[in-house]
Amino acid sequence: MSRPEIQVKGLHKSFGDNEVLRGIDLEIGQGEVTCVIGPSGSGKSTLLRCVNLLEEPTRGQVFVGGTELTDPDVDIDAVRRRIGMVFQQFNLFPHLTVTENLTLPQRRVLRRDRARAARVAAENLARVGLSEKADAYPAALSGGQQQRVAIARSLSMGPEVMLFDEPTSALDPELVGDVLAVMRMLAQEGMTMMVVTHEMTFAREVADRVVFMDGGVIVEDGTPDRVIGDPAHERTRHFLSRLL
Ligand code: ADP
Ligand code: MG
Repeated sequence: MSRPEIQVKGLHKSFGDNEVLRGIDLEIGQGEVTCVIGPSGSGKSTLLRCVNLLEEPTRGQVFVGGTELTDPDVDIDAVRRRIGMVFQQFNLFPHLTVTENLTLPQRRVLRRDRARAARVAAENLARVGLSEKADAYPAALSGGQQQRVAIARSLSMGPEVMLFDEPTSALDPELVGDVLAVMRMLAQEGMTMMVVTHEMTFAREVADRVVFMDGGVIVEDGTPDRVIGDPAHERTRHFLSRLL
């Protein structure tokens, strides 16, 4: 593997007595695309949220780009800027135009001036194929377009790593393809990505690696052909059979 961009060591996370992550070890190389699959409640979102410290791990370590996020002395805001996250719900500001949605966080968080923020916003809207929607409000866009704007907003912050938590699960089926196409482009450009998804075709075609989680542990971890095509564990087979 190339230099690990994301490293998770002995990660545990409990909510009260509910131990949701029970010892996760994972290394993701630079430019690697890892799809995380598994049943509802298996801890996929919690794992992603621990990787950018939206949740504080109960035990264990998380490193991104060689910096330990779980070090109490780390400047977490600085590290978090290197990690983009895209959720099932797009969370765009409804009262701001598409361009304003992209420029506001750059100006507030990165302190970019208006001209630079606007230039970066325009570049990233072009990347997701939505230049013509620059002045539209979110409500005027389809769900798929709103999700592409959310991706462009994340990219405008210049992340080294992108985390996606079921980015197409809230979309009408006919809108899923456009969002997956943008993610495929990012993968081809060499972005390091962790993608929680139920889109097995995407996982098979784009992922370098598939991680199957169940009950807060990684049950299987391997190439898509291995984990999806020829699962070694009954739990994985059972999960996959219910998706098809
Ligand atoms: P998945 O994304 O695989 O569906 P999650 O990581 O969302 O699973 O949730 C795993 C478990 O953790 C679930 O039992 C869920 O109820 C619990 N959980 C997640 N977030 C919280 C929270 N903030 N407080 C309490 N319990 C939580
Ligand atoms: Mg989830």
